[in-house]
Amino acid sequence: MSTTTEIRHLIDGRWQSGGGDELVDVNPSRPSDVVARGPGASAADVDRAFAAARAAADGWRRTPARARAAILLRAADIVAAHRDEWGRELAREEGKTLVEAVAEVGHGANILRYHAQEIERASGEVYESPTPGERILVVRRPVGVIGAITPFNFPFSIPAWKLAPALVWGNTLVWKPAEAVPVLAMRLAEALVEAGLPDGVLNLVSGSAAVGEAIVGHPDVDAVTFTGSTRVGRHVAARLAARGIPFQGELGGKNASLVLDDADLDLAVEQVAIGAFRAAGQKCTATSRVVVHDAVADAFLDRLAERTRAAVVGDALAAGVEVGPVVDARARDRVVGALGRAAAYATPIVAPDPYRDGPLAEGFFVPPSVFALPDDDPGELWRDELFGPVVGVRRVDSAAAGFALVNDSEYGLSTAVFTTDLGRALAAIDDIRVGVVHINSASAGADLHVPFGGSRGSALGPKEQGAVARDFFTETATVYLRG
Ligand code: NAD
Repeated sequence: MSTTTEIRHLIDGRWQSGGGDELVDVNPSRPSDVVARGPGASAADVDRAFAAARAAADGWRRTPARARAAILLRAADIVAAHRDEWGRELAREEGKTLVEAVAEVGHGANILRYHAQEIERASGEVYESPTPGERILVVRRPVGVIGAITPFNFPFSIPAWKLAPALVWGNTLVWKPAEAVPVLAMRLAEALVEAGLPDGVLNLVSGSAAVGEAIVGHPDVDAVTFTGSTRVGRHVAARLAARGIPFQGELGGKNASLVLDDADLDLAVEQVAIGAFRAAGQKCTATSRVVVHDAVADAFLDRLAERTRAAVVGDALAAGVEVGPVVDARARDRVVGALGRAAAYATPIVAPDPYRDGPLAEGFFVPPSVFALPDDDPGELWRDELFGPVVGVRRVDSAAAGFALVNDSEYGLSTAVFTTDLGRALAAIDDIRVGVVHINSASAGADLHVPFGGSRGSALGPKEQGAVARDFFTETATVYLRG
C-alpha cells in the first residue's frame, strides 16, 4: 500500500506542522491515492520563516563561499543517492512518467554541483583608476533574504536552480513550492539540511497562493525569484515594483515548432512529439504550436498523426507509458474544455474523446491531440497556454512567413526550427524573438550551465541558470580603493 506523507514546513531548522488550511496532495494518475496531507503554512508561519531567515543572514554571508559550496556538494550526493526513490515520489505526486521523474531528480543533483563550483570563478573585476595610488574594484555581495515561489511542473529542478545559486552566493531564503508538490519540496530541503545547512538559512513554507501573497507582501523580503504563469508573475512583479523590490520571473510560454520544406521530416516528427507530449505538455518550453511549410505539410502531418496515436497514455508509474496525467482536475477540465470548443473552429487531425469511462477515467488524463487551425481566427489553441498534450497547426508558404507566425504570440520562451539549410537556421536565430532557440531539436529542454529564460511575455528580469544565475542573487559595489 502507498504511504501518505505528513506535510511539514521547515522553519529555523525545525520541521513542523503548519497553522494554515489543510492541504490534500493526490496522485494525478489515481486521485484516490493520497500522497500527502497536513496543514499548509499560515501568515504567522511565514512571519517566523522571515524572522529566521533574517537572523541567519549575517552568519551565512560571512561563512566562506567554499564552505557554503561544500554543503551544496554534500546535498548533491544525498540527492543522487535518493534519485530512484524520490523519482518515484515525483512521478506519483506530479504525474510525469517515472523515467522523466528520475531524470529530473538526477538533474537536480547536477544543478547543485554546478552552482557549488561557480564560486571558484572570479567573482569581481579590477579597473585602473585615473587617480594615482587608487584601484577601482567591483565586488559582489548577497542581496539578503530571498523569497522563492516555484511552480508544480518541475518540482525538484526548478527549486534547485533557484536555491543553489541563492545559497552559494550567501543569501537566505523563504521558499514556497506549488500546492500540488509539497513532498518533493520537503525532499530537497531535507537533503540540504542533512548536508549541514545552518538553521534558518532555508525556510520552506508550503501552501496555496495565500502563502505566496504573504511572502510577496512581507516587509522583510529583499528580492523575489518566481517561476509560474505570466498572469501570476505580472501580479507579483507589480506588487514588488511598487515597493522597489527586485523581481525575477520565468513565466508562461506558447512555443512553436517550425518545420520548413527542407527539414528532415522523421527527425521533425519525433522531436515535435517529444516537445509536445512529454510531461503531458506541461513544460513551459513544450511545443503547443506547429508551423509547417506547405510543400511538406501533408507528409509531416500524416506522420505526426501516426506518432500521436501511438503515444501510450497511462499511469505515470507504469512501464512503457509516454504521456502521464496533467496535474489536477482543474487542469484536465481546462484542456478538455478547450479541445471541446476547438471543434467549432478547427479541423481535428487527431482528436480522441476525453476519457469519460474506462481505466483512464479516474486520473487526470488528456488524450494527445492535434488540430489544424484556420488563419483568419486560429483561436485559443493558437493563443493561450493550455499546458496539456495539445498541438495547433498552421501552414505557411515561406521561411519568412514561418518566422512571422512563430513570433505571432504574446509569449517568447522557446522555439524549435527544423531545417537542413544553414542560412535559414541563421536567419531564424536573428528573426525569431524568443529566449531559447533549438535548431533541429525539441523546443523543450534546457541545460544547466547556460542562461535560461524567455523574452516578451515569458519573462521579467535577469535570466536563470548558468553563470548568469548569480546576477539576481548578488548586488555589486564599486570600490574606489586607496592606501
Ligand atoms: P502558477 O502561476 O499558477 O503558480 C506558480 C506559483 O505561484 C505557485 O507556487 C503558486 O502557488 C504561486 N502563486 C499563485 N498565485 C499567487 C499569488 N497571487 N501571489 C504569490 N504567489 C502565487 O503556475 P503553475 O500552474 O504552478 O505552473 C505552470 C506555469 O508556470 C505555466 O505558465 C508555465 O509556463 C510556467 N513555467 C514557466 C517556466 C519558465 O522557466 N519560464 C518554468 C516552469 C513553469
